[in-house]
Formats: sequence, C-alpha cells, structure tokens
Amino acid sequence: MYDFTEPLSIETLAIRAGQRRTAESEHSDPIFATSSFVFDNAADAAAKFSGATEGNVYSRFTNPTVRGFEDRLAAMEGGRFAIATASGMSAILCLALSVLKAGDRVAVSENVFGSTVSLFTKTLSRFGVTTDFVALTDLSAWQRAMSPRTRLLFVETPSNPTCEIADLASLSKIAKEAGVLFVVDNVYCTPVLQKPLEYGADVVVHSATKYLDGQGRCVGGALVVNDRALYDELFNTLRTSGPSMSPFNAWVFQKGLETLALRMKGHCEYAAELADWLQGHPAVRRVFYPGLSSHPGHLLALKQQRGFGGIVAFEIHGSRSDAWQIIDHTRLLSITANLGDSKSTITHPASTTHARITEKQRQVAGITDSLIRIGVGLEHPDDIKLDLRRGLDSVATSESRLAD
Ligand SMILES: *Cc1c(COP(=O)(O)O)cnc(C)c1O
Repeated sequence: MYDFTEPLSIETLAIRAGQRRTAESEHSDPIFATSSFVFDNAADAAAKFSGATEGNVYSRFTNPTVRGFEDRLAAMEGGRFAIATASGMSAILCLALSVLKAGDRVAVSENVFGSTVSLFTKTLSRFGVTTDFVALTDLSAWQRAMSPRTRLLFVETPSNPTCEIADLASLSKIAKEAGVLFVVDNVYCTPVLQKPLEYGADVVVHSATKYLDGQGRCVGGALVVNDRALYDELFNTLRTSGPSMSPFNAWVFQKGLETLALRMKGHCEYAAELADWLQGHPAVRRVFYPGLSSHPGHLLALKQQRGFGGIVAFEIHGSRSDAWQIIDHTRLLSITANLGDSKSTITHPASTTHARITEKQRQVAGITDSLIRIGVGLEHPDDIKLDLRRGLDSVATSESRLAD
C-alpha cells in the first residue's frame, strides 16, 4: 500500500488511498472474486482463525477488494476505520445490532430516509428499542430528547427533500454531554462536501448506492468510525450476521470514488444553476437549495460544507395535479425516487417517498402536494431546464388563465 507521509487532499486520496498492489504489478485495483482463502499450513490456519495473525479467512469477514474500498473511504472521511456493508440500510442495521439493546432509546431526526424510519419504528421496536423523532434544527428539542436510556443521536443533513441543515458542532456537544453516540448519515454530501467526524460525529453512515457509485449500478453501504473498540464491535456484528459487501460491488464503488470529487463539483454547479433558474420561473413559488442566500440553512451549510449538494426541491403555484403534470411533461429526466446518479431524477415526494407518513407529518416537514424534488445529475443544465420548462410553462399559463 502507498505509505503517505504528506497529508493529501481528498481528490488525491480518492484515487490513491487503499490500493495494495499485488505481485502482478497491476495498475488498476483487481477484483478478488473468492469466497475463501487458503493457508500456508495448519498452524497458519489456526493462527488466522483465532485472530492471533491477521489475514483473510473468508469473504464474509474480510476480502482484499472490499478492504481497498473501506480504506479509501475511511481516508476520505478522515476516519481510522470503515466497514463496508451490503447496502446503506444494512450499515444502519449493523450499527443498531452492535450498540443497542432492549430498553434503549434512539433520537432520530424527523424526515430521515424512509427505510431508516421503518427500521427503527417497525423492526427495532420489536426488540424493545424506542425511537424519539426530533426536528433537525431544533437544538433545545435535541437536548430534551437525551434521556438516560438514549444511546444514539442520529441525523441526516441536509435533509431530504427540503435541504434543512443540522448544526453538527452543536449536536456533537449535546451528544457528548449526554454520553450518546452521534451518528451522521452523510449520503447527500459525501466526504467531498462534508466530513462529519471533523465536527465530532462518532459514526458516519453511507449508502454507497448513491453518489459514491454515482452511476446507479450497485447497492452498498458503509460505516466510518475512529474508535477502535466501536470498530471491533461493528466488525464482529458484520462477520457474524453477514451483510457483507460483494467484492465486485466494492470494486465498482472503489472506482466510483476516483471520480467522486469531480462529479460532486458538477452536481453542485448544475444544481446551483438550476435553483437560480427555477427561482425566476413564474410557476415556481419557492425553491429549496442551501446555496441560495434565502435558504434558512445557508450560513450553516457555508460553514460546514464545501458545496451545497445536488438536490433541489421546489414548490409550484398549483396543486398536486399540476406537480404531476410537470413530472409527466419531462422526457429526459428519470421519474424515480433514486438520486446520486449522473442521470437527473424527478420525484413527487408527497405521493412517493413521503406517502407513508401522515398528512400532518408532511406539513411539519414542509412536504406539500405542490413540492417537486430534482436529484440533479450531470447532463448539461440547459437540457435539464428545457425538459422542465415544458411542464412549468403549461402550469404557469393555466394558472394565469385562472387568475384572469
Ligand atoms: C438510500 C439511502 C439510504 C439507504 O441506502 P441503501 O443503499 O438504499 O440501503 C440511507 N440513507 C439515505 C440518506 C439514503 O439516501
């Protein structure tokens, strides 16, 4: 492996960290498509099984390609250890199985990823874990949520889809004082835009499925931590329960990381341009993008992020059917709830990603029937605008006709 003596920038780590060149002198990272590994002799097998000697035993435990991805991601997050998992959800499950027991409570920000809500409220609740939902930006509510049984303070920032920004430094302080693990789902920013460990997070959660891959090919996830004892707990849970990442997927993600910094730069630039353009369209009532100075989280995002991300949401003057009309007028954008792809996506959150929560919860979260979310991809922004303009113009015309 490269032994870096100089501190390298994230762009360089994304390309160089975590590679262990084999005796074949390969330039690009190889894929170790093997379920198990062989030993030099019986004593070597015994030593590796007992853990007395480090080394590969079985790919549910460790695999060189998976470790390459883990080491690269850990270096980029500025963390000591990463654990790759089969999906983002299994990363969160692995964390929960490692640190929670019956009777514990978790404090989770309102509006986290839908399956994360289900995991805590439907699955973990059956094992005696209680979830308290807290408004992402309400620091005194977080303070109040820290009960003696609380074990995790879990946030996603920016939030989906309205891009609210959590104050990472303040939340870290609240969690530390309460003796609670501070967990940040960093899927939307990636380490290129935000490094939660620098702000005191104990655990960073990733769905590699999104920007880390960046081209919609594979499902995967990861946890990044600095604490050795916590890492050992997580690793034991993973090797025993088995949601390991496949070597092939690890290779795709590792190659994905090489272009992550450039891609995030593109996503941010195009999203900012789109947000600005949407603000000027007569059919648009309000745009949610942390890069806009009108956004309530703008200053915080400026402080703790290196860019404002690739998600833009906007509310139109009109109803649900007008919002659907805008979506149905697109020809280029993909109508899907996924994001973090070079292909731009368009979603109506109220009837898809946030359909299962109550109307009242949607109102609190600002997810109205007239809200549309764009996961801005890497197509030319002029083409994205053109694709949206058809629907927006037709809604603007019908609205002005109503006004007459
Ligand atoms: C997609 C996503 C997850 C879950 O990841 P999977 O890879 O789909 O299991 C978790 N958190 C956020 C913010 C996500 O967008």
